[in-house]
Amino acid sequence: MTGMGKSCILIHYHEIAIKGGNRKWFENIFARNIKKQLQGLPHGKISANSARVFVLDTAPHLWPEYARRLKNVMGLMNATLMTRIPAELEEIKHTAAELIENRTFETFRVSARRQYKNFPLSSGTLNTEVGAHLQKLCGKPVRLKGADLDVKIEVVKDYAYIGADKIRGYGGLPVGVSEKALVLLSSGIDSPVAAFEMLKRGVNPIYVHFHSAPVTSRQSIKNVQEILGVLAEYQTRCKLHSVPLLEIQQQIMATAPNKYWVILFRRAMVRLADMLAKEYTVPALVTGENVGQVASQTLSNMRAVDDAASIPILRPLAGHNKEDIINRAREIGTYEISVEPYQDCCSFFVPPHPETKANLDTVREIEAELKLETLYGEALKRAETHVVNVFYPQVKEQI
Ligand code: ATP
Ligand code: MG
Repeated sequence: MTGMGKSCILIHYHEIAIKGGNRKWFENIFARNIKKQLQGLPHGKISANSARVFVLDTAPHLWPEYARRLKNVMGLMNATLMTRIPAELEEIKHTAAELIENRTFETFRVSARRQYKNFPLSSGTLNTEVGAHLQKLCGKPVRLKGADLDVKIEVVKDYAYIGADKIRGYGGLPVGVSEKALVLLSSGIDSPVAAFEMLKRGVNPIYVHFHSAPVTSRQSIKNVQEILGVLAEYQTRCKLHSVPLLEIQQQIMATAPNKYWVILFRRAMVRLADMLAKEYTVPALVTGENVGQVASQTLSNMRAVDDAASIPILRPLAGHNKEDIINRAREIGTYEISVEPYQDCCSFFVPPHPETKANLDTVREIEAELKLETLYGEALKRAETHVVNVFYPQVKEQI
């Protein structure tokens, strides 16, 4: 397939380009994340050059696996399997001809980009020269919009890169450039998507899950661990704390009016998360809350929940529509796990008429009566930690 040229992958990144003086630092983290994702797959040097990242000496027949893994790298705008050859017109025509040889298509186009202005031909001339050559060989028409086959050519420094297999990534920023946050992860649909949205902004999350075992089954913990397996693919390594909430909930239910239960459970979660965040010196919490989605998620209730935290609570899904959240959950692979039946620690104990506009002073007064401090400490002591390391086995290169 590659003839005289060498197979490589050419990657365009997304927002790193606007980071000015810090660009090198961003590029290094991006390249490091790519390297982690490609572990076990054959490749040579990974290096940044002219606002692109190159993965050299790849095995072209393994492209679907490279593509699947590279899609997990945040900050990636697109990646194309390329053949690298000297930047010379005859070589380019020859390699382009080889590229289309065994492909079925009805229409095609050539999309050239010239990063290296010393190359004598403009991208327009490259398009017409190579396009005419290919047309002579295949006899198929050129179609600029919606062609079956798009032959990409990029001239960077002394090399030309030619390829047609391209994937789009999620864009955003590489994981690790934006500090850590603590995500409150249920096994519902929303919080895994909230975690993903933060991953996409370069945040490297730690997770906390609250359960009410043994009153509720341990299924929610199992579901959360499965969700974690999916999210870990974007981080390559992540950590979850499973914290028992039952004793605290029982204390709340024994004393507080039932319309405040949900809000008090939430405040307890946030207080515990806040304590964990301090341990990790993490500057923010993240939840999957969404304005108006359920009776408990009103602005007043969010205000009453915020009051229990000493650090900001980020709610990346606050303004999203449910349908968009579901589509995203499907796309990232958490939806199927989230819709598995489970007993959530909160919904299990939800009273028929929860408070929808909590008065902060009342909530504070009721909570103060409950004397929960000792229970918080005990819950954290009994928390279980679960680490997921994504490990890809070595892929043997078949010749
Ligand atoms: P999700 O689908 O994320 O569970 P939801 O729409 O079901 O969200 P709630 O159950 O009211 O909403 O929870 C709101 C947010 O509180 C969740 O998105 C999550 O961040 C946090 N949360 C709820 N239950 C738990 C839990 N058991 N453990 C950790 N966090 C939780
Ligand atoms: Mg939920």
